[in-house]
Amino acid sequence: MKRHEKYDVIIVGAGIIGLATAYYSTRAGLKTLILDRGKAASGTTAAAAGMLGVQVELQSRTPLYPLANESRRLYEHLEHELMERTGTSLGRTVSGAIKPAFSSEEWKKLEKIEEWQAAAGESVQRLTASELYDELPRLTAGAKGALYFQEEAHVEPAQTAHAFQQAAVLQGAELKTHTEVTSLYREAGSCRGVLTADGTCFYGEQVVLATGPDPLTSSVHMDVLPIEGMKGEAVRVQGKRPLVTKTLYHQHFYFVPKPNGETLIGATSKASRERTTTVEGIGEVLHRAEQLVPEVAEAEITKMWAGVRPQTNDDLPLIGPHPAIPGCWLCCGHGRNGILLAPASGKELVTAIITRNTSALTAFDPGRGSKVEYHSQ
Ligand SMILES: Cc1cc2nc3c(=O)[nH]c(=O)nc-3n(C[C@H](O)[C@H](O)[C@H](O)COP(=O)(O)OP(=O)(O)OC[C@H]3O[C@@H](n4cnc5c(N)ncnc54)[C@H](O)[C@@H]3O)c2cc1C
Repeated sequence: MKRHEKYDVIIVGAGIIGLATAYYSTRAGLKTLILDRGKAASGTTAAAAGMLGVQVELQSRTPLYPLANESRRLYEHLEHELMERTGTSLGRTVSGAIKPAFSSEEWKKLEKIEEWQAAAGESVQRLTASELYDELPRLTAGAKGALYFQEEAHVEPAQTAHAFQQAAVLQGAELKTHTEVTSLYREAGSCRGVLTADGTCFYGEQVVLATGPDPLTSSVHMDVLPIEGMKGEAVRVQGKRPLVTKTLYHQHFYFVPKPNGETLIGATSKASRERTTTVEGIGEVLHRAEQLVPEVAEAEITKMWAGVRPQTNDDLPLIGPHPAIPGCWLCCGHGRNGILLAPASGKELVTAIITRNTSALTAFDPGRGSKVEYHSQ
């Protein structure tokens, strides 16, 4: 067995979650190694729309809200901080987002959202039908009104992950790609590193599993809340003129105006770990897109793809210590909000590793079992 020098932290998985964690661990002075079986940010992170959808995604005030809120605030600083350190832009755009209602049932749901968000101090504004069509003139007819969230933003996920990677490496992290971790290395029951497919052992005081939708091994994941694969398919299109100038969000389906003039449209949601882009999936995206913005029929499709969201059954991620393996931590299961939640997840996990105080992460305890207490969707 080949042996390597010892690290303070080994992070398995170089998606946005692992890379953001590496950014904060190196910033705290921890000697950090990141391992990925493929290229960095080539998993689910590459498939994301990049919405930082605190207000459009959360239907009620769940334990996800403080984490999402913290992440949103961190992104405001990270945009400048990472640009300064790496020269890479996150592509952060504060476009605002609009959630229309086409029926009185939908309007009642929006009123509830407006109520909790206003009470939480969020900026949320009602639009009449005519104000809505002023903002989104190409939206299909029949909307009764909308909520407008003017602070909603989005980033370019690949650029953001790359910026975290560059900054972490500049701060001393080592990144090894095309290096598959096959198991944890244990001594007297505690995790002391990882073993890779070529038989190498990397020693680490602490190991963080940030493997997205893929469990490391079934035995490691036996005592933690399961992560299911939730496949999503999406497209990017170029219209003859802008289809939307603000993010349009309706029943978990969205149009996101990207800085290069394209519109990102998605996404499907199907329990599956299959990563193929299918006629059925893209057909569903295009059908729903045309129902919402008929003019999309004339747009050129510039890209289509599929990705697998790491989904838990209570819509909350797993962030914290493994319940049965000392020295092993989890930071995964971020579902449809991993881009949004990456900075706060990484920062809070690193704080917990350093202080051994996990009180801020109670709701995300990986050992919370299969109890379903919260539903955000
Ligand atoms: C269509 C779609 C749209 C989305 N839109 C948004 C959005 O608008 N906003 C938002 O916040 N979120 C969005 N998401 C969700 C978001 O993409 C995910 O929550 C996030 O990317 C998860 O990041 P991750 O780092 O946990 O996983 P990943 O990006 O999958 O990274 C995990 C990494 O671990 C590596 N790995 C796995 N096993 C091993 C192993 N054994 N050894 C070594 N390496 C390993 C993989 O190669 C991979 O690189 C969307 C998802 C989809 C599919």
